[in-house]
Amino acid sequence: MHSVNMSLAFVAIFPLRLTPSPRTKTASQFQTPAERQHSKHITFTNRTRILPKCTQTIPPPRTRAPATNPNYKKPSATPQLIAQGDSLQSTPEQQLYLAAFALASLATFAQVGTLISTPLDALSDLSAIFAAYIFTDFAVGVYHHAVDNYGSKHTPFVGYQIDAFQGHHKYPWTITARDMPNNLYRLTKITLPQLCALLLLPIPHQWQSFYSAFLFFIVLSQETHRQAHMTRAAPWVRALQQAGVIVSPKAHAAHHKSSAAYEGNYCILSGWWNRVLDRSGFFRFVEAVVFCLTGNEPICWRLDSSLKYDALRTLPRTWRETL
Ligand SMILES: [Zn+2]
Ligand SMILES: [Zn+2]
Repeated sequence: MHSVNMSLAFVAIFPLRLTPSPRTKTASQFQTPAERQHSKHITFTNRTRILPKCTQTIPPPRTRAPATNPNYKKPSATPQLIAQGDSLQSTPEQQLYLAAFALASLATFAQVGTLISTPLDALSDLSAIFAAYIFTDFAVGVYHHAVDNYGSKHTPFVGYQIDAFQGHHKYPWTITARDMPNNLYRLTKITLPQLCALLLLPIPHQWQSFYSAFLFFIVLSQETHRQAHMTRAAPWVRALQQAGVIVSPKAHAAHHKSSAAYEGNYCILSGWWNRVLDRSGFFRFVEAVVFCLTGNEPICWRLDSSLKYDALRTLPRTWRETL
């Protein structure tokens, strides 16, 4: 349960904006003093706002139809491969990684089983696993937002992941043509050594339960993502999707559809965090902070310039005035 508290506390530091306020603020609130001086000679209409460090005009509240976005291209229904050397079929190495990951996961949970001696122990371990399920959905959503919006295939260490996630938006259906080991093995490569370390480290069994479940759910999230794209998922998978245990095709489709600018619905394990993070403006706030600190604009701002307006509105006024 500590983990739940930690994740809730982490989220609580961000200014939640559960009810979006109407856009009644003046453009001058987003301008530098020099721009403000200049803008005295500009007539602002409902359709034109000037933002710091950018000269594009911001449209009025969006209509969500994809046709309104000039950058929108209908996603291809044919599987396409972008990365060099990529394929859709599993290799023996990929199958071996997945098998080793499954075995290591079983071994860590079996080890935890040997350390449980009372019903209270069992309850605390089950709570830790449930907390890991909740936390993983949040963590995967944050990571997904980062790789969708920042960097490129040339970024050190995570360039391939960035290329894969950003390429997924061009060809979302390619994921359905992948074998499971092919889809998961890159994550198993990262998580397997950590699972092995857990087997050797003397840590409290509740933490072992939490962290092994966290690693397991990270890998699982890529499979729940694939299942959310399947038009013919197995009946038991559909039942889990309809029950809200794993992310549903409808919820994930919103991530791919929203005017082609992937502004929300980043959580792909259970999808439980999507509503909270999207309604609170969490990702807009993160984007605005990254912009303030580094000057980097996320890709979603380029696809839908009004997201920049939404993002900068999440900053405290004192921060905006320093821009
Ligand atoms: Zn995405
Ligand atoms: Zn997707």
